[in-house]
Amino acid sequence: MAYLEIEQLAKSYGAARALQGVSFTAGQGEIVALLGPSGCGKTTLLNLIAGFIAPDAGTIRVGGRLMNAVPPHQRDMAMGFQNYALFPHLDVARNVAFGLEMRGIAKPERARRVTEALELVHLAGLEDRYPRQLSGGQQQRVALARALVVRPSLLLLDEPLSNLDTLLRKTMRNDMREILRRAGTTVLIVTHDQEEALVMSDRILLLANGVIEQMGTPEDLFERPRTVFAAHFMDTANLIAGRISRADNGCVEVETGVGALTAERCGAAVGADVTVAIRPERIRLDGAAGDNRIDGVVRTVNYLGTAYRLEVEAGGTTVVVAASAGGARPQTGQRVSLSWRRCDTRVVEGGGAASQ
Ligand code: ATP
Repeated sequence: MAYLEIEQLAKSYGAARALQGVSFTAGQGEIVALLGPSGCGKTTLLNLIAGFIAPDAGTIRVGGRLMNAVPPHQRDMAMGFQNYALFPHLDVARNVAFGLEMRGIAKPERARRVTEALELVHLAGLEDRYPRQLSGGQQQRVALARALVVRPSLLLLDEPLSNLDTLLRKTMRNDMREILRRAGTTVLIVTHDQEEALVMSDRILLLANGVIEQMGTPEDLFERPRTVFAAHFMDTANLIAGRISRADNGCVEVETGVGALTAERCGAAVGADVTVAIRPERIRLDGAAGDNRIDGVVRTVNYLGTAYRLEVEAGGTTVVVAASAGGARPQTGQRVSLSWRRCDTRVVEGGGAASQ
C-alpha cells in the first residue's frame, strides 16, 4: 500500500519551471532513488516533501496525512545532507543524540537508542570520538545514525555519498543499502549517478526537466528504458533512429540506417518514427548472437579494466561495443560481425536519435 503519495506536484521559481505534474507513490520501507541530470528538479522535489519550500500546486501525503500545510519540524522526517552537517564540537554520541534531546526524550531512553543506532551503522565503540577524528565514511555513518535514531516517517537523503572518493563510495553504497533495509524506513535518495541508483534503490524515479521520465525497478530502467532520454541516461550508448516497417506476433522490424533490425514488439504502429536502443555489452563481435547482424570495422579500442570499449564503424554509423576483457585484445582495423539478440533490441519513444 502507498505510504508516501505525491500528486501533481508543481513548483516554479519566477518564470523558471522546476517541477511539473509530478505524481508517484512509495510503499512503507521502500527505497526510492530520485535520479536525473543537474537541474532536473531532484533537490526541489526533496525540499517540497521536507516542507522547506511550498508547492505551487499538488499534494504530499505521508501515511494518508496531508502534509502541505504542516511545518517542516512537525513533518517527522529526517534529512541527510552532502556534507553530513555534524556538530564539530560534539562527540559521536552527542551528535547522534541531538534529535532525541530536541524531542525531550529522557536520558536513559536516549542512551539506549543511541547505542542501538550506532550498532546499526557499525560504529559501536566510537561514541567518544569527535567528527574530526573520523574518516569520511565514518562521518557519513554518524550522519545516518543521527537521522535514523529519531525513527523518522521518511528519510530524505540528498547526494549522501558525493563527498566520498570513488572506492569508498562503492563500499558505502552497499553498506548504506543494508543499513537502510534493516532500519525499515521509507527513504528517498537524490543522486545523479545511475550506478548508485541501481545498487541502492528498490525503484528509480528518473526526472528530466522537471517531469517524470520513467519510474520503475532498477531492472526496468536498465533493461527496458521507455524513452530516448531514459536509454541515454542509463548508458545505452547505441541509439539508432528508424521507422517501423513491419509488426508481427511478438516482434517488429525497424528500418534503420544500418539495415532492418528485429526488435521486441512495442506500442508503436507501422510507419512510426522510433529509436532503437542496444546496450554495448549485449553486442557480440563474432556474429553468433542471432537475430540482428551487421558487419563492421573496429576503429578505436579502449581498455576499461573489466571490458574493452570499442567503436565499430558499421553500416555508416558508429556502434559502441563493450567486449569482455577476458579474451584477446581487439585490434583497430579488425573486421568484425556485430550481432545481438532481438530481446536486447529495445524500441524507445522518440525518433531521430543519432547513434552516439
Ligand atoms: P543538481 O543535481 O545540480 O543539484 P537538481 O536536479 O537538484 O540539480 P534543482 O536544484 O531542483 O535541480 O533545480 C531545478 C531547477 O530550478 C534548475 O533549473 C534550477 O536552476 C532552478 N532553481 C532551483 N532553485 C532555485 C531558486 N531558489 N531560484 C531560482 N531557480 C532555482
